[in-house]
Amino acid sequence: MRVVVTGGAGFLGSHLCDHLIARGDDVVCIDNFSTGTRSNIAHLRGRQGFTLVEHDVSAYVDVAGAVDAVLHFASPASPVDYTRMPIQTLKAGSLGTHNTLGLAKAKDATFLLASTSEVYGDPLVHPQAEQYWGNVNHLGPRGVYDEAKRFAEAMTMAYCRYHGLDTRIVRVFNTYGPRMRPDDGRVVSNFIVAALADEPITIYGDGAQTRSFCFVDDQVRGIVALLESGEHDPVNIGSSEELTVAELAEIVLEVTGSTSPVRCLPLPADDPKRRCPDAARARELLGWSPSVALREGLGRTAEYFRSLAAPGLG
Ligand code: UDP
Repeated sequence: MRVVVTGGAGFLGSHLCDHLIARGDDVVCIDNFSTGTRSNIAHLRGRQGFTLVEHDVSAYVDVAGAVDAVLHFASPASPVDYTRMPIQTLKAGSLGTHNTLGLAKAKDATFLLASTSEVYGDPLVHPQAEQYWGNVNHLGPRGVYDEAKRFAEAMTMAYCRYHGLDTRIVRVFNTYGPRMRPDDGRVVSNFIVAALADEPITIYGDGAQTRSFCFVDDQVRGIVALLESGEHDPVNIGSSEELTVAELAEIVLEVTGSTSPVRCLPLPADDPKRRCPDAARARELLGWSPSVALREGLGRTAEYFRSLAAPGLG
């Protein structure tokens, strides 16, 4: 296959590029490096079948030659990033989705949208199944991401129904692993970076809010399984092992052997109180379930952050 991956230099996108190249696909990686980094794809530059195009997908997207699949992963995705870049986030989810759907239609390619558990907002239903419509504050600071992705899903379904485009929608739940930016502001990167530096671990609020964390290799395996399925309706991909943020802090301290103190800071606006996927559709339709245990995945992520701090690296 020849696959276009937008946001291919990002955390998730770069692992997706690795997976596709390893199985023999040609990959056209499109990224504007607003949150992606050149180091994430440095090892792919010059590799047979890998092409990098520096471009912002909120402007018209043109790719020469045949394309079999378009995977739209370009967007700031961490709350700190999308709060810092609200307009770019809205544009990546709206104009970027329209442009990449147009590319897929012109090439008669399969389209896969990277959507998010944020479409459920601060959910009133638990765990979250794909049928749940969500509880999103579109006017709040997180609305720029949540609402852009909700629009992106609606646009994708419209191309599927109206143009007969072969589409997929993956709702990505919290995912972590090597190549997260140390300063991306997410809970896993913040906690590990702080633990390794013996700096205070910052818990927002009382730490009773929950998340479930999926290792990036498992996430990529789920996304590729969805791509290969014929499923047009959204599918959640994420771990069902729910834990509080305070519990995560304890596990990070244990895995890193750190003695960092824990400090409580104010909870950001609209921070979801509970989040955990109902992963039944992923299991039944794709035969997917995560395989990397949390402590193992956190250990591998800590190893990555250690390597960034080593002289001559990162
Ligand atoms: N969080 C925290 N300390 C941090 C960063 C995040 O307590 O240093 C909390 C945040 O308020 C949220 C959870 O951890 O409740 C997950 O945050 P993240 O930014 O990773 O992603 P989200 O799931 O909110 O999109």
